[in-house]
Amino acid sequence: MTGWTRQDIPRARSAVTEPVAAGMEAFAQSWASAIIGTSYVPMTKAEVVDHLRGLTELLVEALLADTFRTSAAHEVGIRLVEAHFTGTETLDRTVQLMGDDLLTELGRDTEPHLRSRIAALQGALSAGYAQSLRERTLDEQEAIREAVLDARDHAEAALRASEARFRAVFAEAAIGMGISDTDGNILEVNQSLQDMLGYPASELRQRNLRSLMHPADAESVWGFYEQLLHGERDHFRVEKRFNRRDGEAVWTHLTISLVRDDDGQPAYQVAMVEDVTDRHLLQNRLRYQALHDPLTTLPNRALFLERLSKAFDGGSAGTRIGLCYLDLDGFKVINDSLGHDIGDQLLVSVANRLDESVAGDGRLVARMGGDEFVILIEGSTGTQSIVDIADRVLDSLTGPIRIDGHELSVSASIGLVEREINGTTSADLMRDADITLYWAKADGKGRWAMYDPERNAREVARFTLSATMPAALERDEFYVDYQPLVRLEDSKVLGVEALVRWQHPEFGRLAPDRFIELAEETGLIVPLGRWVLRKACQQARRWLDAFGDATPFVSVNLAVRQSRDPALVNDVKSILEEFALPPHLLQLELTESAIMGTADEPLEALRQLSGMGVRIAIDDFGTGYSNLAYLKHLPVHELKIAGSFMEGMRAADGADPVDAKIVSTLVSLAHALGLTVTAEGVETPSQAERLRKIGCDAGQGWLFARPGRPDQIETLF
Ligand code: C2E
Ligand code: MG
Ligand code: MG
Repeated sequence: MTGWTRQDIPRARSAVTEPVAAGMEAFAQSWASAIIGTSYVPMTKAEVVDHLRGLTELLVEALLADTFRTSAAHEVGIRLVEAHFTGTETLDRTVQLMGDDLLTELGRDTEPHLRSRIAALQGALSAGYAQSLRERTLDEQEAIREAVLDARDHAEAALRASEARFRAVFAEAAIGMGISDTDGNILEVNQSLQDMLGYPASELRQRNLRSLMHPADAESVWGFYEQLLHGERDHFRVEKRFNRRDGEAVWTHLTISLVRDDDGQPAYQVAMVEDVTDRHLLQNRLRYQALHDPLTTLPNRALFLERLSKAFDGGSAGTRIGLCYLDLDGFKVINDSLGHDIGDQLLVSVANRLDESVAGDGRLVARMGGDEFVILIEGSTGTQSIVDIADRVLDSLTGPIRIDGHELSVSASIGLVEREINGTTSADLMRDADITLYWAKADGKGRWAMYDPERNAREVARFTLSATMPAALERDEFYVDYQPLVRLEDSKVLGVEALVRWQHPEFGRLAPDRFIELAEETGLIVPLGRWVLRKACQQARRWLDAFGDATPFVSVNLAVRQSRDPALVNDVKSILEEFALPPHLLQLELTESAIMGTADEPLEALRQLSGMGVRIAIDDFGTGYSNLAYLKHLPVHELKIAGSFMEGMRAADGADPVDAKIVSTLVSLAHALGLTVTAEGVETPSQAERLRKIGCDAGQGWLFARPGRPDQIETLF
């Protein structure tokens, strides 16, 4: 609809006289009053009057024209509609007002031809009005139709745009995407997915998702997928490997989501596939670095432990496992003397030889660190198989290794453990392999040792004993028994040997062979020996008080370590002083090896002790490597002949003539050197009798008395 203003109305100038102008003005005012409330028009009242003034002029001009035409009235009808005077009352009131007032206002109501002109004008105005109104309605309908069409086009365009956008996103996305139906048949794939997998869309569309399984897929992948197919899961995300058409592997992050229809039933699956191959390869490389030894490239401790614990997790009943724990012998010497560089190269050579000699299924050769290597045998077939491997390893190391002009020979010690997985743990296995390696070293190196539970039990007991010994000493769990040394001639008790025992709270009474050696190893023998010495001297003091001159000397065993203890002389001196014990009532027993093999210092100590008046005896004489000629330079007073020679001292028929000869020779020799002789282990009267005949001074043994408490022994004094 076009806009309309009063300037557009052509002004009628002819035939308008003064009284006519006044009449027109009056009519325009009445007309405005009559129709202003009938329609909504966007004009003020003044504007309405102004508008109608123009229309009145047109009507009056046509009314008074010489040649009467109704077209102006037709035009006025049109213009009323154009000015939005379209209310239902408007036309009525206008037509009525024209008939009633127009001629009157003009002062011409008496002229009949004007009356008939009014009627014609009324008709033309009505026709123009009606025509215009109809056109306007049609226009409006058309506008609405167009608006509707417009709007529809708009919505369609928007839909098309959003579809296009989605299609572009799908097609152009850097991430691979695919859509499949509920059976997994692939319906759509985008370019990225085609590129990633190396298959064209046409080929992928003929496939089912399940055909993209990979042997390396975790079971969970396809478990999740089945759940998704059954609508039990809406999406899942996994790392999964695909094989490209060219055979290369692609590692992906795969997310599959379920799209449901309006009823909630599974309708489609949408897969998003992100290529993470680079990241995966990097991770693999980092993982490789983390799990391998950079020097030898062998698997490292971490990888070994991982494989070991997997072997335990995955093993079924009856599965066996084997472990060779290997340590090079004397590697430190090579490292220290030839330098770390050569040491490193040696390790590399050893690693290569190991790897070559035991390579095979289910076997892992790893470097545990330093010069320690381990071979894990999964699914071992028994101890023999692992012994074979250990032999092969030792063999492979026999040939010299050439490095930088050095010809190095290496050997290794190997601890072997082989057993069923059931009933053991990886920690047990490692601990036992470690123990066994130690045995192989202790047994002489360059060899293997097989784990032996009994040996282990013994060692564990030994270890327990040695660990608890210091506390036992403080808790007074030790005590001393005494055994007399008896003069063969008249059975007089010359001395008593102090023999230590351990009343163990758990193991009961322990003889010294169970713990003396241990105490020597740990060094506890020094305080323990000092304790025995003090106990024995204390006892001797009591006997001295009770028996006076008849009191025998106490003979106390001195371990090798004690004899080398710089504090020995002072200890003895202060203990003797503590009990005011005359030194000749104390005898110290040392083994041959303790005396013979020593440097000057301990000998000096013995000389000092001897100088103080303390007796020195050589214990178990004849069992060691004695340099008899050397004896005369030693500060010794007595030889104790080892009990093992007493076989030869039995009754003539059961005697060993060689033993008998040795004993009589020893006795003569000792006497030649001015020493007294005591025979140990005298069990029978005939032994005692023969010893007496040979000239042996004293005897010690069950024949006279078993070692016992002081009050049992003193009855013999
Ligand atoms: P030893 O010094 O040669 O002590 C003699 C061992 O022979 C004692 O064994 C004694 O019980 C045993 N014996 C005595 N008479 C007979 C016999 O007629 N037949 C047989 N078959 N054996 C007899 P025990 O008490 O078991 O002591 C073993 C070793 O332990 C001692 O051998 C000694 O070397 C060591 N020992 C004992 N007490 C001490 C100690 O206080 N300090 C140190 N360093 N060593 C000690
Ligand atoms: Mg002894
Ligand atoms: Mg002895």
